[in-house]
Amino acid sequence: MRTYYLRSFGCQMNDHDAERIRALLEAEGLERVEVPERADLIAYNTCTVRRSADERFYGHLGEASRIKKLHPERLVVVCGCLVQAEGDAFLDEHPFVDIALGPQSIHRLTEVLQLGLRGQGYFNESGPFSGDLPTCRELPFQAWIQVMSGCSNACTYCIVPRVRGPERSRPAARVLAEVRALVADGVLEVTLLGQNVNAYAAQDAGHAVDGSPFAALLRRVDEIAGLERVRFTTSHPKDLSDDLIEAMATLPTVCEHLHLPAQSGSQRTLRDMGRGYTMQQYLERAAAVRQAIPDIAITTDLMVGFPGETEADFQETLALVREVGFDGAFTFVFSPRPGTAAATLPGQVPAAVAGDRIERLVAATQKEGLRWHEGLVGKRVEVLVEGPGRHGDVLRGRSRQNVTVNFSGDAGPGQLVPVMVEAATSTTLRGRLVT
Ligand code: SAM
Ligand code: SF4
Repeated sequence: MRTYYLRSFGCQMNDHDAERIRALLEAEGLERVEVPERADLIAYNTCTVRRSADERFYGHLGEASRIKKLHPERLVVVCGCLVQAEGDAFLDEHPFVDIALGPQSIHRLTEVLQLGLRGQGYFNESGPFSGDLPTCRELPFQAWIQVMSGCSNACTYCIVPRVRGPERSRPAARVLAEVRALVADGVLEVTLLGQNVNAYAAQDAGHAVDGSPFAALLRRVDEIAGLERVRFTTSHPKDLSDDLIEAMATLPTVCEHLHLPAQSGSQRTLRDMGRGYTMQQYLERAAAVRQAIPDIAITTDLMVGFPGETEADFQETLALVREVGFDGAFTFVFSPRPGTAAATLPGQVPAAVAGDRIERLVAATQKEGLRWHEGLVGKRVEVLVEGPGRHGDVLRGRSRQNVTVNFSGDAGPGQLVPVMVEAATSTTLRGRLVT
């Protein structure tokens, strides 16, 4: 076996797992190809957070099935949350799939290849953190670092706790060692990853901390010489402590961006979702963050069509969007997931009603995003250059506030440069390099 094809779906945690899958395959001597037809091993890393994610993957799996019919010797491997949710039934239903690996079983790839295993599924394991496996990054100067796995919250709509297991925190010493090694290897920007990073609990003996263990971790990451930028995601509003806000405000490497999923502005919907905060508490936390870090960009996740959501509930979500003035938002239509409490709640919202609400929500978030970005016109922002822009001969990078900036000027990937902002859209900035 000489070549592999890998397609990953879903969130940043999955993208990060995909980097580990690539590294494990490459350690076995396989080379990446861009089309499945040319690959000896076809791998998918699946997501199942919404039905649309399942459907997108099944479209691709059809392609693998056709290839397998023509070339039965090829290996089809399916990893990730969807196969974890379905377990052995997935292999029974798709007999041409050779191997299925849940997200906690990625490390099994090596033995699968070395022993030539077939027809096997590995689920519900509590293997090593994928962060402890070898890695392979897209850009030499940016890296994701897993600080937690799983989730122990019980949001009633969410399948993540079922497929990724209970929350586990990676010991601080392991996280710090990984950051140090990455910085020595040229990394300037790290993003600490977990479903609920601000619930991180430092497990290192001898490092008992007052206040938030995640804030303590940030303080120690910030001390690492040569590291320029630290980001983290996702934060849960109920676990956003004053200590963490203080750390964000004072640590020079921690970027002025907070992703703080609100989900809804309705008290009743938030309660039925089991989120553990009220709209007032969310607004109070957002205000505390803005007061401590005036130029912070706050982004969020919002959902429409949760069971029982009325037009009045939805109006409260729109009010929340206007009140917080989000820089950006990921917006979703509620999708009932098998085995979750919300899937069987009464008052399921018809698709047409949810469709109309999502359109209005997207318009409202775009309006706020545009307003927020226009406020940056005429200001200077620091950009980490990632590469060429999509159009013309501009360059592209991201500001500390995590906004994509297209700009003219002469700079190379991995450089930190000052850019004067000249124009804005709801999602990006445009400018020119200044000295
Ligand atoms: N742990 C993070 C949090 O609590 O904010 C996010 C995890 S989830 C992968 C990302 C987003 O997907 C959630 O914030 C939520 O808005 C959305 N989501 C999760 N389950 C969903 C469902 N059943 N239907 C629609 N959207 C969903
Ligand atoms: Fe899902 Fe809630 Fe956990 Fe986020 S905090 S992963 S939405 S259960």
